[in-house]
Amino acid sequence: MHEHSKYSIVVPMYNEEAVIEETYRRLKEVMDSQPETYELVFVNDGSRDRTVEIVEGLCRRDGNVRLVNFSRNFGHQIAISAGMDYASGDAVVVIDADLQDPPQVILAMIDKWRQGYDVVYGKRLKRKGETLFKKVTALMFYRLLRSMTNVEIPVDTGDFRLIDRKVCEVLRNLKEKNRFVRGLVSWVGFKQTSVEYVRDERWAGETKYPLKKMIRFALDGITSFSYKPLKLATYIGFAMSAASFLYLLVVLYEKLFTEAYVVPGWSSLLATNLFFNGIMLILLGIIGEYIGRIYDESKGRPLYIVKETKGFQAEGAAEPG
Ligand code: UDP
Ligand code: MG
Repeated sequence: MHEHSKYSIVVPMYNEEAVIEETYRRLKEVMDSQPETYELVFVNDGSRDRTVEIVEGLCRRDGNVRLVNFSRNFGHQIAISAGMDYASGDAVVVIDADLQDPPQVILAMIDKWRQGYDVVYGKRLKRKGETLFKKVTALMFYRLLRSMTNVEIPVDTGDFRLIDRKVCEVLRNLKEKNRFVRGLVSWVGFKQTSVEYVRDERWAGETKYPLKKMIRFALDGITSFSYKPLKLATYIGFAMSAASFLYLLVVLYEKLFTEAYVVPGWSSLLATNLFFNGIMLILLGIIGEYIGRIYDESKGRPLYIVKETKGFQAEGAAEPG
């Protein structure tokens, strides 16, 4: 059995050698300023730099530090999920490694938790030092997600949040592979509230979310909580059939009652053909996104593979919780 901590701070890391020591220092400062025991659960998501070595050093120096080391890069959302699996605290806080989420906000979250809330999420008032592109795409994404899903996913919140042990247990039992953690947290319900904060610039290093990962993340968010995109096919199908029928009437009219029957029409044929083929491919792609995810779920592979753990009581045993 692991020794039980009051608070667990989960930190997913992917190539964060430039910040991780500073992140540790600030988390320790904040957590030492409150009276309860705590653990810092660092999850290494297949970093290719010195992140692991640095955290191993921290483990040796500080009994509150734990390391969960993945066998490869599984992705941010899965790293968070693993952290929740291994965390033993009565409350679990997830925070980015890059100090964009200010550690002192954790104290405000703890305060709300003590008032009886089960989920306390950080709501970004402002995002500092992020590119216009990121801000605009994020803004659109959260609005789009909101309009497409029935789950009340709060706008402008990331994964920076505190969850109670009982919520953590519920989340651990949701075994879906294409995880959109902030959506799942909203979906499970319980008593939720927010604390507002200003999102800082990344302390050092650069973003680990290139456009490709952002798109995947957005698709996971939408497809896990909505099948509206699939309905698109139906709507477009109806609209197109109606339009085609009207055009059919026009063509018949021209053929039967006017002299206007002429062969030219190659360009319009080609244009409509290309247009409809484009739409077909998009709709097929949407269906493919869903089928791919069904396929992922059906394989029943584990969510992640842990190479080793450090700092947990039963050293090396890759045994969650
Ligand atoms: N991260 C991860 N695996 C990945 C990509 C990112 O664990 O494949 C971590 C990263 O180390 C950081 C957090 O997820 O702690 C958020 O990533 P980042 O700050 O690069 O994203 P941004 O803030 O730019 O959206
Ligand atoms: Mg960041």
